[in-house]
Amino acid sequence: MNDYLIDAQDVYRVYQRGHQEVQALRGIQLQLESGCFVALKGRSGSGKTTLLNILGGLDRPTSGTVKIFGRDLSTLSDDELTRWRRERLGFVFQSFGLLPTLSAYENVELMLRLIGVSSRERRERTLHCLHIVGLGKRVHHRPYELSGGQQQRVAIARALANQPRLILADEPTGELDSLTAGEILSLFQRIVAEEGLTLLMTSHDMMVDDYVDRVLQLKDGQIVS
Ligand code: ADP
Ligand code: MG
Repeated sequence: MNDYLIDAQDVYRVYQRGHQEVQALRGIQLQLESGCFVALKGRSGSGKTTLLNILGGLDRPTSGTVKIFGRDLSTLSDDELTRWRRERLGFVFQSFGLLPTLSAYENVELMLRLIGVSSRERRERTLHCLHIVGLGKRVHHRPYELSGGQQQRVAIARALANQPRLILADEPTGELDSLTAGEILSLFQRIVAEEGLTLLMTSHDMMVDDYVDRVLQLKDGQIVS
């Protein structure tokens, strides 16, 4: 047993493309503690999304071990992994991933329905999370009535709903102008400090360095710094 929130040892991921093999990850070693804001940087194709998906149990490594909160993910079946992910992790994506017909409130609350939280607790938690991200006054707006930055805030509230100790964000500022991107990065910084969770985000944006505690550089499927 160790204290690492993320402990990845010698992780490889090989994709089959036709009869060719693509080595997307080549021997990743990664240990992260609780309460840190970390950027995973690297060019397009360097393996950022692949690594994030494996750490979040959305994909499995070809070889190597991934332990999250001390639990070896390879010991979980696909169904167990899905359940574990919903209960324990938060995810944020580049294009927000909100359901367009649902309000901000409903998008957040849906996550809590999926894991069987009681209706009273769902309401409190949903409103609390929308408040954290500064959308307390827009809870009934639908995605199309919100700006890109506001939509990403809804997605962040949704990621916080189950009170995760780890949030994984794949290019969360990729579709935002730099002013809005800076606001989202500040929000992440505040959430990490106030909630004590770990937030690992991918990016190829220079400006993230000013916000995060640590930068990991990925090159051709390996962490180079
Ligand atoms: P990044 O997020 O840094 O742009 P990715 O993790 O998406 O990088 O991709 C890493 C490498 O793996 C790239 O060469 C990409 O083309 C390849 N790759 C990613 N997903 C697949 C897939 N589903 N099938 C085959 N190759 C893939
Ligand atoms: Mg990617």
